[in-house]
Amino acid sequence: MNQSGRCQCGKVNYYFNKEDVISAHHCHCKDCQRSTGCGKSTIIYIPNKKLKVDGEIKFFENKGSMGTTIRRGFCENCGSGLMSYAKELPMLRFIKAGTLDDSSWLTVNSSFFTKSATDWNAPDENIKSFQGNPDMLSNIKNVIKSL
Ligand SMILES: [Zn+2]
Ligand SMILES: [Zn+2]
Repeated sequence: MNQSGRCQCGKVNYYFNKEDVISAHHCHCKDCQRSTGCGKSTIIYIPNKKLKVDGEIKFFENKGSMGTTIRRGFCENCGSGLMSYAKELPMLRFIKAGTLDDSSWLTVNSSFFTKSATDWNAPDENIKSFQGNPDMLSNIKNVIKSL
C-alpha cells in the first residue's frame, strides 16, 4: 500500500492505495467544525475493504445533518480524529486528510455544507460547492455499485 497516516501518538496507523480513493471533499458542517475545532474538515472517501487499520479506534456516534448516523473515529489515547463513516454505509470510510503522512497528491473535488461556512474559513471558490450534502446516500450508493 502506497499511502499511510496516523494519529498524533502513533497508536493508530492506517494504510491504503491512493488509486482506491473515490473522491475528496471539504465539509463545512457544524459537526465537522466542532469535532475538528476548525472551519471545516477535509475528508477522503475510500472503500472500507481497501483500507487497513492497525490499532484501536474509538467511535463517537451522532445524527448527521442529513439524518444519517455518523460515527466519528478517534484515538482513545491522544484524541486525534482519524476517520468517520455513516452507520448506514459501513462499506465507505471518510479519512481526515490532515492525518495522512503525505497528502501532497490530494485533489479536493467539492465543498459540502457551505451554508454553515465561516467568513474566516470561506469555501474554496475554485471548486464546486454545495449548500448541504449533495444527496449523499444516493450518490454513494451509485459509487458503491460501480465498485
Ligand atoms: Zn493516538
Ligand atoms: Zn461535516
